[in-house]
Amino acid sequence: MTTEHSRRNFLRGRLSQPEPPRMRPPGAQPSFANLCTHCGDCARACPEAIIIRHPSGEPVVDFARGACTFCNACAEACEAGALKPAAPSDWPWRATIDTSCFSLNGVFCRSCEDACEPRAIRFRLMTAGRSAPVLDQDQCTGCGECASTCPAGAIAFEVPRPATEEKTA
Ligand code: SF4
Ligand code: SF4
Ligand code: SF4
Repeated sequence: MTTEHSRRNFLRGRLSQPEPPRMRPPGAQPSFANLCTHCGDCARACPEAIIIRHPSGEPVVDFARGACTFCNACAEACEAGALKPAAPSDWPWRATIDTSCFSLNGVFCRSCEDACEPRAIRFRLMTAGRSAPVLDQDQCTGCGECASTCPAGAIAFEVPRPATEEKTA
């Protein structure tokens, strides 16, 4: 294969990478993409001002700006029915902490632990003055409070896959 071919295939591979899922506001319906008119009413209604406009025009939650209180103001403002009031337990996102965490690199910080009301984050002492954050996703509500206070920007969010059930004979 020529270098030009390899380069083209590499770029094609990169371009075909699936986009990571967008963090739509709480109560997003399965047919959200068809229902949302990009009106922005949900963003204007959010008392925490954490809903921003994605380049596609869709509203997305940005936890760098603050945390979600699951107040449902966004869903109540949505006349199109793309968002519907939901229970906090319906929110599928959970926090994860990456290796840029200050504590993991020997700089003392407990901002996320202090911010986390459900006490989902603990620290395990390591050598050389380092500590490892341990996040219990079963305790985590996905509220985003830790992300908005993390000075290292080390906290991201994912939708955990359901555990595969063991098959019984
Ligand atoms: S539930 Fe409330 S705090 Fe959370 S995004 Fe909607 S309006 Fe904002
Ligand atoms: S209020 Fe509803 S229709 Fe308008 S941008 Fe928000 S989700 Fe979309
Ligand atoms: S998202 Fe909320 S509940 Fe989860 S670890 Fe962060 S502060 Fe705690």
